This record gives sequence, structure tokens and C-alpha cells, in this order.
Amino acid sequence: MDASQAQGSPFPASPVMPQMLDGGKEIQFRCHEGITCFNACCKSIDISLTPYDILRLKRRLGLTSTEFLERYTLPYEMEKDGIAGVKLRPVEEGTACRFMTDEGCSVYGDRPTACRYYPVALLSLRRQDEYTERDSYALVREDHCLGHREPRRLTIDEYRAEQGLPEYDEPARGWRQLILKKKSSGPTVGKPSRRSLQLFFMTCYDLDRFRDFVASDSFREVFELPEAEREEILADELRLMQFGFRFLRQVLFGEMSIPLREEAVAARRERLKEKLVRLEREAAERLARDEELAEQEPGD
Ligand code: SF4
Ligand code: SF4
Repeated sequence: MDASQAQGSPFPASPVMPQMLDGGKEIQFRCHEGITCFNACCKSIDISLTPYDILRLKRRLGLTSTEFLERYTLPYEMEKDGIAGVKLRPVEEGTACRFMTDEGCSVYGDRPTACRYYPVALLSLRRQDEYTERDSYALVREDHCLGHREPRRLTIDEYRAEQGLPEYDEPARGWRQLILKKKSSGPTVGKPSRRSLQLFFMTCYDLDRFRDFVASDSFREVFELPEAEREEILADELRLMQFGFRFLRQVLFGEMSIPLREEAVAARRERLKEKLVRLEREAAERLARDEELAEQEPGD
């Protein structure tokens, strides 16, 4: 399975830009247990996970998000954009999915978005004059996949419904918007620091660690979130995930929606002032050193 095109990754990296289709477009496809190529697409995987995929899988396996990430995934940086991503880790020294069995997918009811979409690819697009994204799709044809030869026609919307995708796409929408925003923010925002990559990783993928952070005193010292709201968020993983996207919009793009405590604002202002003073002093020292060197040069 070529994930760059087909894994439901919101941002296919394939150089082959497929034809964009809308949900009403009819396709010919059927995948079933009796098909000759059964499991072929799970033998060579490159599957990006959404935050909701991780939530579903870690629940199914009875793991914390931290344990799931360590055992079953590989982190990566989404090409050129400096955004943290997570992929399913294949079997040791192989390319097959760890969840593949002779009978098929062992986590079928909670399989990731990308597996559900295949052979359709979701393309989330955002035009400059639009705030929200529009979904378009592409059809991926790979030689090993014989499902395209099966005599069944249905629209992409019908296929999405059959695969349970509305339930998966909706909770991950805020995550896709963050990525699109980063991708379209251009060079002025620039590549995020290691710290913001780590923050993005924790908030989007390591939900249990993000919950600890929201529950911590250090979070409370900085953010003025009403206590009742905080408790509701901490008690509901889906709400926590959505709150995480809101938190990242504030931290990464300055879209203020969580009030900051006055003391935290003052301390931040103080830190910025100190940083500015330090930068000015370093610049002055560098200038003095350069001038000194320039004066020495003629006599060398
Ligand atoms: S999660 Fe299931 S459907 Fe997806 S690649 Fe693995 S075995 Fe195949
Ligand atoms: S028809 Fe395609 S999606 Fe289904 S098992 Fe075969 S290769 Fe995989």
C-alpha cells in the first residue's frame, strides 16, 4: 500500500497528483475476505495516524497513549513543514503491519483512518480566501489491489459511510486544520522550534501525557480555565483532544481562546524584556569584537 497516496493521510506526498474527486463521484470497488489479494495491502505499510486513530487503538489494546506510541509507532516530521507526525511501526525487519493476521486485521473495528479510506485518498485543501478546509478525494490504483475489478459501484460518500469514516474524520478535523494552517502560513512563521514540535506531538498524539499537563499546577499557574470546565475536559478524552487543538492554535498561532493569568502575562513580558536586553548586549559585544579585529588586521 503506498501510503503517500492512499493512507488517508490528509496531505499526500506523492509527486503523482491524482485527479481530484468529490464525494458524489462513483467508483468501482469492493474488498472482501475471499479476494485473491486479501491482506496484500497490509504487507507493506506506510500509515500515518490521526490523533483519533491513536485514541481508538490505545483504548482497544488497553494501553496508555505513551505505551501505544512506544510499542506501535514511529515519529516523523511531516515533509518540509516541521510538523510532528506519527506512523504505524511495521514488524521488526519487515514491512508488514503488526496487526495483520492470516484472518485479516486484528484491530478491524478500530483500524486507522488510512486503512478505512483505501483505495480512496482524502485531500484536505484550504484556499487562501477560505478559513476552513474543503475535502476532496482521489482514487488510488495499485497493481496488487484487485478490488477495482469487482463488479460493485458506489459513490465515495457511500464508501466513506460504509467504512465508518464520518465518525473518524470529524474528531480529527481540528488536527487537519492545524496542519493546513501551518502549511499555508508560509515563511513568515517559519519552521517551528524543537520545543513546539514536542508540544505538538504531546498534545495531538500522547493524550494521556497531555491530560497530566492540563491537570498540573504549572498549567493552572498560566491558564485561567474555569475549574468546572477543566474537570469536564479531563474526564472526557474526546473533549480533551479537542481542547488540545484549541490549545495549540493559541500557542502556535496566537489565536487566544484560553485566558492567561495576569501574573503569567507579566512574567512572560519580563522574560521577553530580559531576552531583549541579553540579545542587545550580545550584539554590542560582537560588534566591539569585530571592530577590534578590524583594527588589528592592517598590522598582521
Ligand atoms: S491496521 Fe489492519 S487494516 Fe490497517 S494495515 Fe494494519 S492490518 Fe491492515
Ligand atoms: S482488494 Fe485491495 S484493499 Fe482489499 S485486500 Fe486486496 S489489496 Fe487490500
